[in-house]
Amino acid sequence: MNTADEHVDLAGYLTGQLGSGEQRDVEAHLDGCERCRAEAASLREVQSFLGELPPEALLDGPPVGADLVMQRTVNQVRAEARAQAGRGRSMAIVAAVVVAAVVLGVGVMVGRSSSGPEVAVPTTPPPSTSAVPGTKVVSGADASGQTRLTASIVPEPGWVRVDGSVKGIPAGQKCLLVVLGKNGERQVAGGWMVSERAARDGANLYGTAVVDPAQVAAVVIENTAGHRFVEADVS
Ligand SMILES: [Zn+2]
Repeated sequence: MNTADEHVDLAGYLTGQLGSGEQRDVEAHLDGCERCRAEAASLREVQSFLGELPPEALLDGPPVGADLVMQRTVNQVRAEARAQAGRGRSMAIVAAVVVAAVVLGVGVMVGRSSSGPEVAVPTTPPPSTSAVPGTKVVSGADASGQTRLTASIVPEPGWVRVDGSVKGIPAGQKCLLVVLGKNGERQVAGGWMVSERAARDGANLYGTAVVDPAQVAAVVIENTAGHRFVEADVS
């Protein structure tokens, strides 16, 4: 029994989590429901370029050992998807996958499935980064100007979200996104290894750190050996 609001469990269907009976029910529903067909198509498209991300990540949480930023992102969006429940669920999962794709630096792959060079699916921004009062945008570059970081620091009560992009870091580097406090404290907001694609095209980053928004002095990217690639100071 499907109401207009609940429709069907597309995520379960597309990730093969349903029993055969439920699967047939979904297929029957898809035959008659344009909205779910469209949603399934967009979910499939997202799935197709995200081979790196096991679909179970979205249903059961990220795999153990997965990239830290991805873990945080998937966990966060799953929490928001649960909070919405019902009608928003499928779109929340699309958002989760898109965010994870961006975090993983595979955004360019999205564009490969269409004619355009840019992201082909709606570029859902990381959760609530825009229009938050007090958001600070910082940027910085290294001495050569080749490595550049731009980030939005979004205030939350007692902590911050960091949403940024970086260019110019060589492939293979194991990087940390670090938020520096005015008192010298350091909080790691995420970590990743730079892919060939991210080295060439840059990568988008999203993380969180337990630093009071008023105390944030800078956002920096370092490798795990302590080399600092780039720093963006709060003015
Ligand atoms: Zn439907």
